[in-house]
Amino acid sequence: MRGEGGVRSRAMRLPLVALTLAMACTPPPPPNQPLPSMPPPKQEPIPLGVSPAAPAPAPAPAPSAPGEKVTLADVGLESASLDRTVDPCVDFYQFACGGWLRSNPIPADRARWGRFSEIDERNKLALRTLLEEAAKGIGGDATTKKLGDFYASCMDEAAIEAAGLRSIQPLLDKTTKVKDAKSWLAAVADLHEVGVWVVWGEVAFADLKDSLTNVTYLDTDGLGLPDRDYYVKPELREKLDAYTTHVGRLLALALPNAKPEALAADVIAIETELAKLTKTAVEKRDIDGSYNPTDAKKLAKQVKLDWKAYAKATGHEFSKKIILGTPKFFAALDKVRAKFKFSQWANYFTYHALAKNSLGLPKAYDTEVFELAKVLTGVEAQQERSKRCVTATQQGLGELLGQQYVAKHFPSSSKQTATMLVDAIMKSMGEQIGRLDWMSDPTKQIAQGKLAKVVRMLGYPDKWRIYDFEVRREDFAGNRLRAAAYDTRRTLVRAGKPVDRSEWQMNTYDVNAYYDPTANNTALPAGILQPPFFGQDRSVAANLGGIGMVIGHELTHGFDDQGAQFDADGNLKKWWSKDDLQKFQDRGTCVADQYSTFEALPDQFVQGRLTLGENIADLGGVKMAFQAYRSLRKDAAKAFVADGFTEDQQFFLAVGQAWCNKDRPAEVQRRLTTDPHSPPKFRVYGALRNLREFSDAFKCAAGTPMNPAKTCAVW
Ligand SMILES: [Zn+2]
Repeated sequence: MRGEGGVRSRAMRLPLVALTLAMACTPPPPPNQPLPSMPPPKQEPIPLGVSPAAPAPAPAPAPSAPGEKVTLADVGLESASLDRTVDPCVDFYQFACGGWLRSNPIPADRARWGRFSEIDERNKLALRTLLEEAAKGIGGDATTKKLGDFYASCMDEAAIEAAGLRSIQPLLDKTTKVKDAKSWLAAVADLHEVGVWVVWGEVAFADLKDSLTNVTYLDTDGLGLPDRDYYVKPELREKLDAYTTHVGRLLALALPNAKPEALAADVIAIETELAKLTKTAVEKRDIDGSYNPTDAKKLAKQVKLDWKAYAKATGHEFSKKIILGTPKFFAALDKVRAKFKFSQWANYFTYHALAKNSLGLPKAYDTEVFELAKVLTGVEAQQERSKRCVTATQQGLGELLGQQYVAKHFPSSSKQTATMLVDAIMKSMGEQIGRLDWMSDPTKQIAQGKLAKVVRMLGYPDKWRIYDFEVRREDFAGNRLRAAAYDTRRTLVRAGKPVDRSEWQMNTYDVNAYYDPTANNTALPAGILQPPFFGQDRSVAANLGGIGMVIGHELTHGFDDQGAQFDADGNLKKWWSKDDLQKFQDRGTCVADQYSTFEALPDQFVQGRLTLGENIADLGGVKMAFQAYRSLRKDAAKAFVADGFTEDQQFFLAVGQAWCNKDRPAEVQRRLTTDPHSPPKFRVYGALRNLREFSDAFKCAAGTPMNPAKTCAVW
């Protein structure tokens, strides 16, 4: 899920169907800003919040003597983030976030700056402190030493400069010397072995129709730009031109005797051909269309490659059943291969070997790769080395670092409180399904059965992954390659074996969450259990509007346009009656059509079909969280008005304030093309304008933007 600077995320390219809260993208943090440290766990009894000591949904008693004034800060909300000059019924996002937007310019080294980034920054600082201590190497155990050595090797720029291309030379010897079919395949295999997916990509993941067994998935891959649209759409031509220049310059650093323009032309020609055979982001959301089982024999018939040699070189076998994402691509692969000279392929392979490993190479390479990030995201400055090295350590030794993070920064009381909130929201969701007027009883029963079987994973994994590869303090590029090889093999050898459902797909410090329809489980990492999403000293309304909406969002993913195609056991199976399915799809169309009218940049609109699953999850999530908040507060002795805002209003302010965010225009464009999530502003606007309870809370007149005549509801 992670890609450097958010530009190279491969999550979009392969049929991984874990549905996340936000696109993970390790956004580069701002330089030298004084930042708050991790909030310390509060020990004192909390006035309005949900007490972790009493996990029953009983709201705590009054915080203050009658008549005492309650402020937004008392309940965990931010008065300064508001813009009270705006009518909340016209533009609620601006009302909730206007003050925040005014006082938070996007840092030069970020493409996006929002509440997620603020927490990520905090987490990164905590991790950096851990790693700096570990790097001192005094009296640490083996785990600490490994972390410290990895981080220290990344920080040692002098050693990196002096090593030049030495560590990746064996790889370059393969890529630059492609001259026949055999050496072509050898280069592909060596690149794949270290997770550089040229030509096609591979994952091993639960079989969508037999969810307890992992199978091999193969699909198109190997584009240097974020999406196939960048190669074929006229409005993205400017980006393609900039990419072409960048490719030539990067290759010329390693191949100084060749003409940059000629080198780039080879790479662009090949990638454009691959792009034409690659599905659009919307086409990839068609799960049935991406599930095309075959086997080794049929594949070998179709693609004349020495697959045995490939398996030997990469050290793993495909499963018996192989799923192709794009059959027409594999049918055309031999022709594509023959269409270009081996020398052209050599340049394509070499570009990807360099680009993917640039952080471990001399500065000239790293700087050139950043030039591309600038064009694609609008980011202006490279982030500090130390923060990039934290990210690199996250990528290389993710759970090793997570283990130390949790021990130091995650109070067990947070887990208890979060568990209680999840229970409350699951209960609301079950009740809500029962109330639906468009769904028949038999389908309702199956849906409720599925909900009851959702497995919740909170905070951190029960067992931690091991990282059995060598880390050398003076060889960062080598460490990265060994880490990538270890991780690639670890995941690919799972093919054909049982699924381990206890495994996490995110790191514990990630500011994100996910639902995996093939396991019917949802994970809420420790990293997101912080303000402005969550705090033990925040009110029920504020917590439910923040983290509650996130939990509701993830649970609703089990019932969005994709998730609803899976049953309680995680199998792709039709469990809907025909009539109910039709009604469900019609309701989805309402959502897709409405979101397609949201204009994110002049003349550039949200893709309603690309973002449908996330939008359904937002609409459902906020509704379930609101109902859960109401039921947790229904027996409260008294309601609290904070700075004039009722508790219902506080709930919605919490929703809005969790999503305050800014993107650079290039980043908006990139995300409109590739990100299945709507821009944060429209996530708030869209989710709330379709909710009756919102317009009631703010008394929005019929016909105002936040209370339109036509609304959509799925769940
Ligand atoms: Zn989501």
